[in-house]
Amino acid sequence: MRRLTSGAGRELSAKGDIFKSPLSKTGPRGQNNLVKKNKTAARPGSAAQQPADQQPDVIPDVIIVGSGAAGLTAALVLAERCHVLVLAKGALDGGSTAWAQGGIAAVLDSGDTFEDHINDTMMAGGGLNRRETVEFVIEHAPEAIQRLADLGVPFNADSGALHLTREGGHSHRRIVHVDDATGWAVQQALIAAATAHPNITLRPDMVAVDLVTDRHRIEPVEGKHGAATGGQQGGQQGGQQVWGVYALDTQTGHVECFSARATILATGGAGRTYLFSTAPRGATGDGIAMAWRAGCRVSNMEFMQFHPTCLYNLEVKNFLITEAVRGEGGHLKLPPGVPGGGERFMPRFDRREELAPRDVVARAIDHEIKRLGLDYVHLDISHRDPEFIRGHFPNIYERLLGLGIDMTKEPIPVVPAQHYTCGGVLIDMAGRTDLAGLYAVGECSESGLHGANRLASNSLLECFVFGDAAANDILERWDSFAAPPPLREWDASRVADSDEEVVIKQNWTEIRRFMWNYVGIVRTNKRLERAAHRIKLLKSEVNDYYSNFRLTSDLIELRNLLQTAELIVKSARARRESRGLHYNEDYPQTQPAARDTILVPN
Ligand SMILES: Cc1cc2nc3c(=O)[nH]c(=O)nc-3n(C[C@H](O)[C@H](O)[C@H](O)COP(=O)(O)OP(=O)(O)OC[C@H]3O[C@@H](n4cnc5c(N)ncnc54)[C@H](O)[C@@H]3O)c2cc1C
Repeated sequence: MRRLTSGAGRELSAKGDIFKSPLSKTGPRGQNNLVKKNKTAARPGSAAQQPADQQPDVIPDVIIVGSGAAGLTAALVLAERCHVLVLAKGALDGGSTAWAQGGIAAVLDSGDTFEDHINDTMMAGGGLNRRETVEFVIEHAPEAIQRLADLGVPFNADSGALHLTREGGHSHRRIVHVDDATGWAVQQALIAAATAHPNITLRPDMVAVDLVTDRHRIEPVEGKHGAATGGQQGGQQGGQQVWGVYALDTQTGHVECFSARATILATGGAGRTYLFSTAPRGATGDGIAMAWRAGCRVSNMEFMQFHPTCLYNLEVKNFLITEAVRGEGGHLKLPPGVPGGGERFMPRFDRREELAPRDVVARAIDHEIKRLGLDYVHLDISHRDPEFIRGHFPNIYERLLGLGIDMTKEPIPVVPAQHYTCGGVLIDMAGRTDLAGLYAVGECSESGLHGANRLASNSLLECFVFGDAAANDILERWDSFAAPPPLREWDASRVADSDEEVVIKQNWTEIRRFMWNYVGIVRTNKRLERAAHRIKLLKSEVNDYYSNFRLTSDLIELRNLLQTAELIVKSARARRESRGLHYNEDYPQTQPAARDTILVPN
C-alpha cells in the first residue's frame, strides 16, 4: 500500500473506521427485491466481470442508484456491514466519472493550506457556498485520496510525491491526477473493488423510474398520503418515507420493485438538458427529477457550469480539452481572419487571464464568438515543448491527432459546452434529503460545496467525501431504519407499445435546443419566459405519452429531462441578479445578500 503525505508531512491513515460484521440480511417477503449476488452483465467498455448467476439470492439492505464515484464510494463503505444493491442504467462505467480528465483537488503540498483551498472554493462560488460544507469536504480530501491510492488508483508521482497540477481558480498546484484520464482510472478501480466485494450486487442496465414511497404501500399509512399505484398512471408522487425504487430492466422490458431500508441517489448531473454538453448521454437529471416528484426540495438549479473548452468538431461533439491545458500555459486566441486574429483575448476580460474561473472564461469566449460571428476560438499550447505536451496530455494528444490536429504544432478549435450541474437535491452534511430513508450524493445533490460556481476538480472530491459520509450515517443510524413494508408491484396493465417513437426524439431535441438558446451562458427575462412557455406545452404532451405507452429508457429520460429543464428555468427566473454561473442581462448586478434558490414541491 502506498502512503501519501499531506502538506503538514503527516502520514494519512489508511481506511478510517472499518466495520466488520455484516448486518442481518432480512427483508420483507413477497416483494420482487431479490437480487443475485454480484450479478453484473458483461457490457462493452465495462471492466465489470460476470461472476456467478447461480449464486444465492440476497435481499439488499441499501439500494444505491448510480455506479459512479459517489455511488461506489458509498457502496464500498456500506458493504463492510450490510448488503448493497447498486443499479446503473447502462454500463457500470457509463456516468461522468469515467470521463473526468483533469483530476481531484486536495491539499497535499507543503506550501498549500486548507484555508487557501477553502478560500479558492468560496471565491469561485460567488458567496453562495455553505462554509461548513466547504470545510468538511476540503479537510477530508487527503484521506479520500489515500483511500483511492489504497484501491490501486495509479496517481502520477514525481520523485516519490504525488504530482500536482494546477487548474483555473486554484491558488496552488493541488490537483492529483492519472495522466489526463483520472476519472477512467478511478472508475475502474472502484468497479474492480465493488465487483470483488461479496456484499455488493451490481446491476447494470437497470433504469430507475421512480422512488417507492409510503404511497406505494399495500396498506396505506393512516391519515398521510393517498395510495398510488406502482405504475405510470400514479401521477405526481409524494410520501414521507422512501422504501426503494421501481426500475426498468432494459434486457427484459419489465419494471421491478426494489425495496430496502435506505436508498441513495447517486445518479449524476443533468448536462444533457443542453444541446452541447461534455457529459455522457445518460446525464439526464434522473435522480433530481425522481427526488422532486417524491417530495424533496431541489436547490440552485440555475447554476449550470459551462466548460470553456470543448473541442469544436462537427463529428465529435463532446470532447473536453481539460482545464490543465490552460493551467500548463495554453493561451486562448482569436482565430485568424478577424480583427485581432491570432491574439490572446483573456487579458482584456480578467487579470487572471486564462486561469480565471470557468464562468469568466466561458462568458469571455461566448462574448467573442457572438461579437465576431465565430464558430470557435483557438486554444494554443504549441509554444511549449512537444515532449512536455505529449507527456502531460497523452490521451488528448492522441485523440486530436486522430482528428487531424497536432496540438504540439497548431491551435485547437474550442467552444464552451455545458459541463457540470451545481444544483440538485438539497442535502445536509450526511447526504440526507427531506425524505426519511433517502440520501443523495455526488453531482445529483446540492450540498453547499459549490455555491454559484464549482471550482475545478472539487466535484469528484465531493463524491468521495459525501459518498463516505452518507454511508457512515446510514450505518450509525441503522437501528432507526425499519424493514420495508409490503409494496405494490409496478402496474403496466394499462399501457400499450408506443406507436410513434419519433415523439421522443423530437421532444428530446427540442428541449436541448431551447435550453441551449434560451437558458445558456447568458440569459434574459424574455428568453427564460420563452423557455418556460415551451416547457408548459411539452409537459402535457410528454405526460400524456408517459401515461399511455410502455416504458423505454428513452421515455424515462425524456420525462426526467423535461422535469429538470423546468427546475432549471424556475430557478433561473427566481434569481433576480447575476451571480456566479447565472448571468441575466436584465439583472446584471449582484445583490448584497447571497441566497440559495430553493424550490419546494407542492
Ligand atoms: C468530460 C468531463 C470531465 C470532467 N472532469 C472532471 C475533473 O477533472 N475533476 C472533477 O472533479 N470532476 C470532473 N468532472 C465532473 C465529475 O466527473 C462528475 O461530477 C462526477 O464524476 C459525478 O459523479 P457521480 O458519481 O455523481 O455521477 P456519475 O459518475 O455521472 O454516475 C452516475 C451514475 O448514475 C447512474 N444513473 C443515472 N440515472 C440512472 C437511473 N435512472 N437509473 C439507474 N442508474 C442511473 C448512471 O448509470 C451512473 O452509473 C468532469 C465531468 C465531465 C463530463
